Amino acid sequence: MQTLTVVVPVYNEVEVLPAFHCRLSDALAQLDVDGCVLYVDDGSDEACATKLRELAQENDDVGLLVLSRNFGKEVAVSAGLDHAQGDAVVLIDADLQDPPELIAEFVQQWRAGYDVVYGQRTERRGDSAFKRTSASGFYRLLAMLSDVDIPRDVGDFRLLSRRAVEALKSLPERHRYMKGLYAWIGFPQVGVPYVREPRASGDSKWNYWRLWNFAMEGITSFSELPLKVATYLGMLVSSFSFLYGLFMIVRTLIWGNPVPGYPSLVVIVLFLGGVQLMCLGVMGEYLARTYTESKGRALYFTREFHPPRD
Ligand code: UDP
Ligand code: MG
Repeated sequence: MQTLTVVVPVYNEVEVLPAFHCRLSDALAQLDVDGCVLYVDDGSDEACATKLRELAQENDDVGLLVLSRNFGKEVAVSAGLDHAQGDAVVLIDADLQDPPELIAEFVQQWRAGYDVVYGQRTERRGDSAFKRTSASGFYRLLAMLSDVDIPRDVGDFRLLSRRAVEALKSLPERHRYMKGLYAWIGFPQVGVPYVREPRASGDSKWNYWRLWNFAMEGITSFSELPLKVATYLGMLVSSFSFLYGLFMIVRTLIWGNPVPGYPSLVVIVLFLGGVQLMCLGVMGEYLARTYTESKGRALYFTREFHPPRD
């Protein structure tokens, strides 16, 4: 029988974990594949860690990977992929925002020959209007800037075939913008629409500052256009100032020089100073990422690993 590993990154989710596990096991029992679960404990607190250990001890088809500290969801997912053994791997959040029942449909599409089957949210219940508009604006910008086609309204909830998993595992980068990477690896991909529920309980770990940084990560990982903006902006400004210089020479020759223009001088100096700082900042963003990549640090450390027993 084909095997399926469900990878669940978990960070402080004690409140929902029991309910989530019940729903997930029920959903897996309905399938005609040999399913098992791999929880990735991303440095959770004591209560959550204990609960996870219980689940892994009581159920033969539950594995547990404990990371040495909190590394963030992207890394937790990568760690899960590294340790998942199944012919296919499903990634799902522990907060019940992604319905486990949809996995049946994922498996159908996988059997139909798709390597990546992702859940596509048709509706974002429980997200504020600001979060919705900023999210859609960001995805539009990213689509404009990058060469890979990153599907919109798509999260980590998905099924990956073995060869898609191997492809992802072979990517060495430390800055892991997973949404982009899934699209970048290629292979036949298809979306399955679903309604994203609000969190069952607890809080989202994403505040606006984290979301902003996540957006920066996406853009710098998948587009070099911001680096080129500096070049073109520089060209534009210098050709404009060349023309203006010509104009001044001609004007002085014809009408003499009455020394006007202190305010315009200040404006121009300030404007150029601002543009230069901004361009330096953009270069700095890329340089910083090159720096972390070049250090080549391990992505995560494993504290404990208990694979599923069957
Ligand atoms: N998560 C994680 N590490 C973190 C933050 C979150 O493993 O540092 C897990 C979390 O437990 C949940 C999933 O990632 O299973 C999604 O987290 P969250 O609900 O906070 O994100 P959102 O649904 O708002 O994108
Ligand atoms: Mg969530």
